[in-house]
Amino acid sequence: MIYVAEVIVDVSAYPVDRAFDYLIPEQWADLIEKGCRVKVPFGPRNVLGFVVDLKNETAVPPEKIKPIAQILDIEPVLTEEMLQLAKWLKHETICYEIDALQVMLPSALRAKYEKIVHLQVVQNDLLPELQPYFAKSPKVNYKLFEKDHLLRELKLAAIHGHVTIENSVKQQGAVKHIRKVAITQDTALLEGIFTAISNRAQKQKLLVQWMQGHPGGIFTPDEINEQAQVTSAVLQAVVERGAATYIQEEVYRDPFTKDVARTDFLRLTDEQTVALQQITTAMEEKRAETFLLHGVTGSGKTEVYLQAIQHTLAEGKEAIVLVPEISLTPQMTERFRSRFGEQVAVMHSGLSVGEKYDEWRKIQQGKVKVVVGARSAAFAPFTNVGLIILDEEHESTYKQEDSPRYHARDVAIWRGEFYSCPVILGSATPALESFARAKKGVYTLLTLQQRAMRQALPTVEIVDMREQLKKGNRSMFSEPLVDAIRVRLEKKEQIVLFLNRRGYSSFVMCRDCGTVVQCPNCDISLTYHRSNEKLKCHYCGYDEYVPHECPQCQSEHIRFFGTGTQKVEEELYKIFPEARVLRMDVDTTKHKGAHEEILEAFGEGKADVLLGTQMIAKGLDFPNITLVGVLSADTSLHLPDYRAAEKTFQLMTQVSGRAGRHDKPGEVFIQTYTPEHYAIELSKEQLYTPFYEREMHTRRQAGYPPYYYLALIQVSHEDVMIAAEYAGRAAEWLRANLSFKVSIIGPTTASISRLQNRYRYQCLIKYKIEPNLIPVLLQLIKLYRSDWIKKGIILTIDLDPSMI
Ligand code: ADP
Ligand code: ZN
Ligand code: ZN
Repeated sequence: MIYVAEVIVDVSAYPVDRAFDYLIPEQWADLIEKGCRVKVPFGPRNVLGFVVDLKNETAVPPEKIKPIAQILDIEPVLTEEMLQLAKWLKHETICYEIDALQVMLPSALRAKYEKIVHLQVVQNDLLPELQPYFAKSPKVNYKLFEKDHLLRELKLAAIHGHVTIENSVKQQGAVKHIRKVAITQDTALLEGIFTAISNRAQKQKLLVQWMQGHPGGIFTPDEINEQAQVTSAVLQAVVERGAATYIQEEVYRDPFTKDVARTDFLRLTDEQTVALQQITTAMEEKRAETFLLHGVTGSGKTEVYLQAIQHTLAEGKEAIVLVPEISLTPQMTERFRSRFGEQVAVMHSGLSVGEKYDEWRKIQQGKVKVVVGARSAAFAPFTNVGLIILDEEHESTYKQEDSPRYHARDVAIWRGEFYSCPVILGSATPALESFARAKKGVYTLLTLQQRAMRQALPTVEIVDMREQLKKGNRSMFSEPLVDAIRVRLEKKEQIVLFLNRRGYSSFVMCRDCGTVVQCPNCDISLTYHRSNEKLKCHYCGYDEYVPHECPQCQSEHIRFFGTGTQKVEEELYKIFPEARVLRMDVDTTKHKGAHEEILEAFGEGKADVLLGTQMIAKGLDFPNITLVGVLSADTSLHLPDYRAAEKTFQLMTQVSGRAGRHDKPGEVFIQTYTPEHYAIELSKEQLYTPFYEREMHTRRQAGYPPYYYLALIQVSHEDVMIAAEYAGRAAEWLRANLSFKVSIIGPTTASISRLQNRYRYQCLIKYKIEPNLIPVLLQLIKLYRSDWIKKGIILTIDLDPSMI
């Protein structure tokens, strides 16, 4: 009998993306499972690989097949489901399977970290071979067992829960441990110890008797002292007799900084009840149904999520809640924690590598039942999923821009099918694609038209900034907005000012010759940062000091232009010196917990004005906010993105939704230079459907999604000629191989024509039905990987591009 593993190796430059067969050395035959990581020889070196299948035969001749060099996991890190999902992702997004496998794991498992075996029971309860290793400490380096060929025994111990194997992620702030007492499972041993203790040591006898009632139990010394009514000295004596042992239990680094008070379920409104009921029916009937929960801001979508999750937990299943990274505010996560307490894990980019690993482990070990997280939490390693929720499903952060270029929505729906469970997509402004699918009946539409507490939506006034200019007002604050701010300051109500900075930055420009200071590596203007008087490239990180004279004409009249949050803050203080302003942007939220501190201070009324960028558009729910001002609505309208109008409408609706969520009515001012644009005009009434219809019309005319599909092929190289040449070859290849119904635009220069010193060209493919597309693209990739790559070309394919 031979044992063969199919392994996906971590070699991204190989022309063919497939699994390779490796021989499993006989002594590891029952150790290696699907989903384990291994080291295998590939070319001249050993590389990381994932075991994706096991079999008893191979087409590789015996003299050619190589054995696996090292086992990295004796417990699989990926489930069968994840292996299937990776195959699907590879096909769906045209990526290397290894990329799809890696994206599912926390980075602590991607890099090489030490592994530590933690003893969880009394040493005596272990297999005899393992016992000596734990004589000195309950924590032993995994390498020792590997060296001594004891992995099989170790695996057995892990399966029985006698040990756990943890990646030790070193970091600032040592890992916390607490000392606990593990009682032996061996009742005969306890009996023996009990008899051996003389009757004069009554206390010890009592304690052992108590332990006989809790074999295998783990307690803190305090708990034992209290429950068994004995002192530490007695416990010590009993431990010395071998009835129990002290262990160090690792305390999970708790990413929550404070305790959260419990909240109760609210009585649902009629609309909420109808929505919830359809969702729970799908759960009970085990249907993989996708719901689009379309509810105006403040309509109580989150309450529907919470109660649907409650239902899932009652069924003994788990729930995944995805929220956009920027709305992963403490306020949002607290709402989940306040209902489900310790059962909630949170995953977002603000956590350290160690914290992320801890949260992942809690999920993997089934210690939590709910995860609230950003995009990558779509891969949360639960194994009995009962509900998946995507809040703000229209958000562009759900799409990953690097390989694998997946959309969390697609992953959610795939997993929903896998577990035959419902998926809820929630939004006040659904993505056009989603709403179109709901209209076609692919998704089930659930609508919440009223705000939960029947509050009116805020009144929205559009302010034409051109008129302001004509009147001689050159400030970034229009008269109506200034008046409204003044009123709020007098009434001690709160104000949110939103600066729409998507694709917009303050740059430095020469007023004499018009030169804008650009990044030397990228075709992008540098952004001005006042705090250190520097110019910075937001794409490659390059920075330099602000020049004193124009690099082009040596004029001294070079200064910064455009509106940053700092500039707004200064101007605001000029008009309202008494206003207390909190600024929230990339600069003020650098340190961990800053976000939280700012919001907390604002919630406690320590400021009158919260001023910020995109970051404040979401999730804010404070009763005292009665005024929202949007300083510049149109900056996102003029982006090279077919979704520009949609994004602007979504943003305006989101921001407006921050006002008047409780008893006090809200008012919104939107300042713009293009008040006649439908995305701005329609955001006044916050009417989604008219916007949807208007935008669909535009998309149909221009041949964009959801009427057509897009694929973007990008080619880059340091040499502009080579980049152009190969982009041309790609376009030629596509034209020759795709049907005439497909339109291929390009090659053209990319909207950012140079990035990190590489020139970028692209071809856009627009199609309706093209069964040949994937095979043709795979052929193109093969061509690229086997030849072009050697010339330094980088070719990427995005099947659902957002920026084009
Ligand atoms: P959304 O997620 O749709 O923006 P939320 O769930 O945040 O809406 O609800 C808005 C506000 O209404 C919150 O303060 C919430 O506590 C409250 N709310 C939601 N549902 C109810 C309900 N059934 N009864 C009373 N208040 C509710
Ligand atoms: Zn100049
Ligand atoms: Zn740059």
